[in-house]
Amino acid sequence: MFTRQSFKNHYEGIIEPFRIIGNVYFVGTFPASSHLIDTGDGLILIDTGYNDTLFLLINSIYKLGFSPQDIKYIIHTHWHWDHTEATAALVHLCGAKTFIGEKDFENAKKYFIPDVCLKDGDVIELGNTKINVMETPGHTRGCISLFFEADENGIKYQVGTFGGAGANTLRKGSFDYEGCREDYRNSLNMLRKKKVDVFIGNHVWNNDTQTKGDILRTTGENRFINSEIWYEFLDFCEKRLDKVIEDEAADKK
Ligand SMILES: [Zn+2]
Repeated sequence: MFTRQSFKNHYEGIIEPFRIIGNVYFVGTFPASSHLIDTGDGLILIDTGYNDTLFLLINSIYKLGFSPQDIKYIIHTHWHWDHTEATAALVHLCGAKTFIGEKDFENAKKYFIPDVCLKDGDVIELGNTKINVMETPGHTRGCISLFFEADENGIKYQVGTFGGAGANTLRKGSFDYEGCREDYRNSLNMLRKKKVDVFIGNHVWNNDTQTKGDILRTTGENRFINSEIWYEFLDFCEKRLDKVIEDEAADKK
């Protein structure tokens, strides 16, 4: 669990699109996740991925029976290129309104000009969907996590994502900003207060998207419904932060 795979080219990490739960779909690739929500009044896309995987994203949306032209909102978990690079080209295609955490606004301008800056407690509403925004700084200063409800067969599920789990920016020399480690730990504590029935990772390795997706598509068994994995992943993230700090202390000896 929680292991990565790397590819020479991003577009080699193809994943067959599928419905995760209710109106929530996976349309990303292995190197960068993207999720689509069919709100009944247009589509919301969470993260766009790389320019060289945009054709796969568009193909995945079509394969599921939707049209990229119906994307109304694009929400970004943070400004890094694996979540934002394809946004400018996609906006050209569909004219969607773009959202990002307020404190990632300046950096995001490397890839696109965000229309809306989000703050802690903001709610993004479209059609049948209300997405609650939580600021979870650490991986980047403006990283946000998203929480919303999805309905399947009359059962309501709490869906959640941690918008920036990566430890790469927590290492000395690669800091996104001073104080990022303290922020990251605080963010984990805030995230632990949320109840999440269906954890959607903003990278496939966060929640074993591919394996669970293959099982879901072939057998109908939905292993995304698991209220423990959220906490397991947050613990994993905290241990990884501790390890970064320990390794650094060991190097100094
Ligand atoms: Zn990142």
